[in-house]
Amino acid sequence: MGERLKFAFYWASTCGGCDVAMLDLAERILEVIEIADIVFWPIAMDFKYKDLEAIGGRGIEVAFYNGSVRNSEHEHLAKVLRERSKILIAFGTCACYGGIPGLANISERDEIFRIVYRETPSTVNPQNTLPTTSLKIDDVTLTLPEFFDFVKPLNMVVDVDYYIPGCPPPVELIWQAIEAIRINRLPPRGSVIGPRYTLCEVCKRKRDEKIKIKLIKGIQEGVPDPEICFLDQGYICLGPATRAGCAGEEGGKCLNVNMPCRGCMGPPDEVEDQGARMISALASVMIPEIPPEKLTEMIKDPLGMFYRFTLPSSILNKRMKRSE
Ligand code: SF4
Ligand code: SF4
Repeated sequence: MGERLKFAFYWASTCGGCDVAMLDLAERILEVIEIADIVFWPIAMDFKYKDLEAIGGRGIEVAFYNGSVRNSEHEHLAKVLRERSKILIAFGTCACYGGIPGLANISERDEIFRIVYRETPSTVNPQNTLPTTSLKIDDVTLTLPEFFDFVKPLNMVVDVDYYIPGCPPPVELIWQAIEAIRINRLPPRGSVIGPRYTLCEVCKRKRDEKIKIKLIKGIQEGVPDPEICFLDQGYICLGPATRAGCAGEEGGKCLNVNMPCRGCMGPPDEVEDQGARMISALASVMIPEIPPEKLTEMIKDPLGMFYRFTLPSSILNKRMKRSE
């Protein structure tokens, strides 16, 4: 084996599932440790930011950044890791596209603070205190990171070399990336690690190209036939707008347990906007006579349905204030 590599892991605005996915490598994590020293992984070991800042030049071979950028601490760490790493990987769908935290982009910071710290039924805040970035108590000044107005994917803050999507990233894709790093066979910079095609292309369910549906059902409204395409049965499935890769050749993790795909792998190559692609796919299987008001009745939460994982990286991106 040649010189040992240095790996770093960081979590920003995230649920922690991406770090758990790394541990899902199980005994293969020992093979990672054989080739690399982990020089920073604050969720797993007691590293301090000064440990990271002390690494000179581009002393880290690969940094895995999971989570979206919600506050100034996430942004600072993205910049520090970018400066010190030869390869920076957006790890998981939040880092790649904004993810679930990105759904907050329909509200600005002030609205979020007002609702969370003043208006929810469980809030007790008689002094109307809101988070602040700095507070002086006696002679001590306490500081907190600045909470930004909107959530951003990692590539809106720094240059990203590779993307490993998934909520969380599938273990096989993580392993594929680590193997490629180990033998120095990574694809061209900017690539997504994973198949280029959609989930529909590996799905085993039967499709009838001629079917036109007139009703959209929620998954709670019936038991889907496990042999037939969800869309053909009237259940929205984001397979046509979602990158394959969550279950290799087996057809998709959620599909295998009779649940429609919700799109967590993000869009395939060549698709800029996952939600727009899905809306277009849905339109192509529906009878055209359905009035718009009926559609809004049938699809209760269009933003959560079509942009659950990708709002900050979509064309919509965030809620725009109407000018006065
Ligand atoms: S829409 Fe869903 S169920 Fe239908 S073919 Fe695509 S992935 Fe399979
Ligand atoms: S089927 Fe869809 S939502 Fe489920 S794990 Fe795969 S990509 Fe994610």
